[in-house]
Amino acid sequence: MKKYVPPLVMLIIFETAAVTLWLTKDNIFYLFNFSYIGISISLGLFLFIKKYRYARRVTQLLVGLYMLVYLGFISGENMQIEGFWYYLFTGVFEAATIHYAVAKIFGPLIFGRGWCGYACWTAMVLDFLPYKVPEKPGKKLGWIRYITFAASFIFVSALFLAHVGNLEKIMFRAFIVGNVLYYAVGIILAFAFKDNRAFCKYICPVTVFLKPMSCFSLLRIKCDKAKCVSCGKCKKVCPMEVDVTDNSRRRKNGTECILCFECVKNCPKDAL
Ligand code: SF4
Ligand code: SF4
Ligand code: SF4
Repeated sequence: MKKYVPPLVMLIIFETAAVTLWLTKDNIFYLFNFSYIGISISLGLFLFIKKYRYARRVTQLLVGLYMLVYLGFISGENMQIEGFWYYLFTGVFEAATIHYAVAKIFGPLIFGRGWCGYACWTAMVLDFLPYKVPEKPGKKLGWIRYITFAASFIFVSALFLAHVGNLEKIMFRAFIVGNVLYYAVGIILAFAFKDNRAFCKYICPVTVFLKPMSCFSLLRIKCDKAKCVSCGKCKKVCPMEVDVTDNSRRRKNGTECILCFECVKNCPKDAL
């Protein structure tokens, strides 16, 4: 029964947040929202324990589709980085600001880039593409992320500075256009670089938050050097090209780890 503790703990954490926010904010949405996410994550963990091959994908689809379709398209919340700037400038600590604070800014101090492995609706689609592991070593194009990050900030700032009206409507349209662009660029890059996660590695503006914060993550994959036979299988199956046998915080591509556990599943010596 001990092995079922992690999914149970995860469920308790999310249910505690769900009930606390529901009662303190007097809004039943929080009960539904955090219960749904908690159940999705716990189910993924449970399936992983049961050695189901697609456990991570189940959680990724459950959470990603919920965020994109329900919160985004149906409820009209811009959950992309532009939505974060928008709610931040309006001083509203709800929706995208809570989402960014929990999943992408402070949360990574605990669970690293778990968001990228288990919840992101962009990667949810990119992970269906054929290049699960890059065919060639990554390029030094990570600087592009700072341009997209700055562009998103400038775009929303300009709307505020110009006192543009109907901002809610514009932000909803920006959400639709932004997602279409992300998917189009993500799919083109995946085929061009023969790497499903090329968009994550070079373009995604959210990594400007995710990478430095995940550097200090409590949850990280470590290598038991006494068991490791240096066979290199872990590096061959890693979608993010992480040197997972190096336990230091400065390991190669360490802040790219999305906690997909492919290395752990494929290690013949249970060293990870
Ligand atoms: S890097 Fe960006 S696009 Fe990729 S999974 Fe993370 S948040 Fe999503
Ligand atoms: S797969 Fe396991 S044994 Fe092989 S190099 Fe990686 S950690 Fe070491
Ligand atoms: S394979 Fe291992 S090191 Fe690579 S991203 Fe997944 S969990 Fe991280």
